[in-house]
Amino acid sequence: MQAETLTAMDQALTRALIEGVAHRIIDHAAELTALDQAIGDGDHGVNMKRGFEAVLADLDTHAGKPLPEALKSVGMALVMKVGGASGPLYGTLFMTLGKTLPAEPGRDDVASSLAAAIDAVKARGKSDVGQKTMLDVLAPVQAALAAGRDPAAAAIEAAEATVPMKALRGRASFLGDRSIGHMDPGARSSALMVATITDVIGRRA
Ligand code: ADP
Ligand code: MG
Repeated sequence: MQAETLTAMDQALTRALIEGVAHRIIDHAAELTALDQAIGDGDHGVNMKRGFEAVLADLDTHAGKPLPEALKSVGMALVMKVGGASGPLYGTLFMTLGKTLPAEPGRDDVASSLAAAIDAVKARGKSDVGQKTMLDVLAPVQAALAAGRDPAAAAIEAAEATVPMKALRGRASFLGDRSIGHMDPGARSSALMVATITDVIGRRA
């Protein structure tokens, strides 16, 4: 296959990934907001929608770059537009993926890059797995990738598993035991992103 064809295919994939994730999050904004109304301040859907609308507004710029650069520029857009606790954390996640992924990553590359990105989110959020946050989806997804299991199934299951957890970080932690019994909004948005990425890649294969 010609090198140019490969490049064009990769750019099409980068575009499909960014567009797919943005639309899935925007389509689920009301659900994310409802989850955040239960245990936070009810802005997670609005925050994420604002961020991904800004990403779509600059889609040609983001998607015109090689995948690692595209991830960095999406991350910067999220930092600037999402706000709240989740904006800088998702920004850190995407920017670290961009810094650590090779241009044409395989599954192992994605697993090790996601491990680095999770560490960066933990450092930024002074948080860890088990505290009812997005990390409780991202870490099981990373483990599934590393073990050759389906990351989308792991993500959906892990988001469900935040329901009985007690929040120890973020606004939901102010509720103490009253945070138990609700899915963490950031866990749900992370699961939506992972499910979309696996859908897009699966459709292409
Ligand atoms: P805010 O809490 O400022 O209103 P959002 O509602 O947009 O911000 O995002 C809330 C989500 O961010 C939570 O559901 C949780 O998953 C995630 N989160 C909050 N604080 C942290 C943290 N310290 N580490 C990891 N994730 C966090
Ligand atoms: Mg909130």
